[in-house]
Amino acid sequence: MQSGHKKTYLKFIFSAWLFVIVLAAMQINFIFGEFKIEYFIIPSFVGIIVGAILGRQHLLIQNKDETLDKFYALVEMAEEMSYLQNPDGSYQFVSKSVTNLTGHQPEDFYKVPNFFASLLTEKHKKSFERHQFAILNQQTPEPIELQLKDKLNKPLWVRHSARPVIKKGRVIAISSTNVDITKQIKQEEILINLAEKDPLTQLPNRRKFNQVLNKKLSKQQPFKLVLMDLDRFKNINDTLGHSIGDSILKKVSHRLQRSLPAKALLSRFGGDEFVFLLPDHIDVESYINQLLGLIEKPILTNGLSLHVSASFGWVNYPEDAQDDETLIRYADTAMYFAKQTQEGVSKRYSREIDHHNERLLLLETQLRKDIKLRKIESYYQPLLAAKTNEVVGVECLARWHNQSFGHVSPAEFIPLAENTGLINQLGDIILEEAILTASQLYEFCENKNIYLAVNASAIQLSQQNFAKRVDDLLKQYRVPPELLKIEVTESLFIGGNHQAIEVLNQLRSIGVGVALDDFGTGYSAMAVLKEGFIDVLKVDKSFVQNIAENQQERLLLNQIISMAHVMGMPVVAEGVETQAQKDILEQSGCDVLQGFLLAKPMSKEQFCPYMNCLGYHFNK
Ligand code: C2E
Ligand code: CA
Ligand code: CA
Repeated sequence: MQSGHKKTYLKFIFSAWLFVIVLAAMQINFIFGEFKIEYFIIPSFVGIIVGAILGRQHLLIQNKDETLDKFYALVEMAEEMSYLQNPDGSYQFVSKSVTNLTGHQPEDFYKVPNFFASLLTEKHKKSFERHQFAILNQQTPEPIELQLKDKLNKPLWVRHSARPVIKKGRVIAISSTNVDITKQIKQEEILINLAEKDPLTQLPNRRKFNQVLNKKLSKQQPFKLVLMDLDRFKNINDTLGHSIGDSILKKVSHRLQRSLPAKALLSRFGGDEFVFLLPDHIDVESYINQLLGLIEKPILTNGLSLHVSASFGWVNYPEDAQDDETLIRYADTAMYFAKQTQEGVSKRYSREIDHHNERLLLLETQLRKDIKLRKIESYYQPLLAAKTNEVVGVECLARWHNQSFGHVSPAEFIPLAENTGLINQLGDIILEEAILTASQLYEFCENKNIYLAVNASAIQLSQQNFAKRVDDLLKQYRVPPELLKIEVTESLFIGGNHQAIEVLNQLRSIGVGVALDDFGTGYSAMAVLKEGFIDVLKVDKSFVQNIAENQQERLLLNQIISMAHVMGMPVVAEGVETQAQKDILEQSGCDVLQGFLLAKPMSKEQFCPYMNCLGYHFNK
């Protein structure tokens, strides 16, 4: 016992003893009229016992009060918010720390029963109710994490622990503490984000996608998996820089997200690759068309208006494959095939696609080998003046004859070379061959103005040193620059390929002409013409094909020709196969004709005699 308590205890015993002795003395005097020591023995004992009992009782009460005061002091000091609640929801005690945590005063709690529950978010009210129910049933459940809103509506997370206070088999109160874990939750969220989200687009990453995919597979729920890859995105990144590339990715992902059907998942796999998990009932073809519409709308960034397109490959689960790896691989195979065939389209996986890709893989190995051995040949197709039938130019066309595959069409190996990065080497072989031929034509022909047209793909023109290489070759072979024309397609201008446009300007500044090939196959060619990078317009053969039968196309052709003339550009029509086509083109004012009717592409061996027979003295 503490010394203070001992004194109080002795005081109580002494006072009770004195009180009983005085009382006893009065009684003894009244009854016996005399005092004897033995009369005081029993009252002394009684006084001591009563004093002891009262002293003890007093100390107990005092102790209890002190303990409660200390307890409350401790509770007030603690950072966590504590409360003691009656089973009916009213509060017996609420620690002052509620104010720090929630911005509310303890009085707010005292006034409203279950005030704490009213602060919880809807989602967490239910779990709190279950927790509370267990406590009222005399259980002590595990702590739970709850989200609430503070007085200023700011979200807040607490770890809520509560237990029943049981007396005589009844719950008389609920005691609870709530620790602020907002910081911890935020850190956890950051970690989860890092582990499961793509930092650039905030879309679920590959890891998260795989988790969801495997869950679906384990439940054997049918679904569709679509892989999307932006077309020529590398070009954008290389020429406009990564920050514009990133901005495009963000904007595209935003558009995709907004169009995402319910219960679908969209993930960025990395680079320019996005993957969709779609519920089985979705009509993939029409959904992809809808996506294409969204993606192809111009993207405004850094003051530029850019156009992108995408190719899609997709698979059905469980029909096409049954495991995650194969499903993704097949979707990728189909996407690759779509890109090869025509950008901006979608393909569903099939065995044929697989075979096609196998062929492409073998072809690639052979092409690589033959490029190294310079086994790519150049063929020449003359371009004739419509009025005089004179040869005014020659188009150089790549030909590839491989030992294993035989003759491979440029329509197959040029896109392959573009997709595998071999086009730069291949293009350089053709360019040098063409300039050599140009120099021979210049040297040996009477007509010194026959120009050589060389096709160049967008990838070649994205090389910074392309114009310099052309200039060097022209000087090396002593060819006047105006006798070379570089043929480009309008796809070069899609995606705002500034690097390529810069190269075109460099070419034109050294005197090399630029022809816009395949005019009429795309949709932005008119816009390209207005920019003024083009010297010659080549109308696509698909256009020429129908002019004899289709009056509307004939009218359109007339308009194109007059428009080009207004802009000071001569027009070449390619794919002239019939006399009727030739006649119409002549009447329409078309300047130059190219086609099987006039001359087929020929090897150098055939081309030299052809030039000679037309009266030119051209030797190899
Ligand atoms: P292109 O530049 O439009 O070349 C004209 C194509 O039309 C050539 O096909 C030519 O053989 C074909 N052609 C010419 N006259 C007629 C005709 O009367 N009727 C029909 N139906 N076709 C005719 P080719 O040689 O198969 O080349 C296909 C494409 O491959 C070329 O189309 C060009 O885009 C590309 N290409 C060819 N050589 C090269 C090259 O060295 N570099 C690059 N980048 N692309 C090339
Ligand atoms: Ca061409
Ligand atoms: Ca063409």
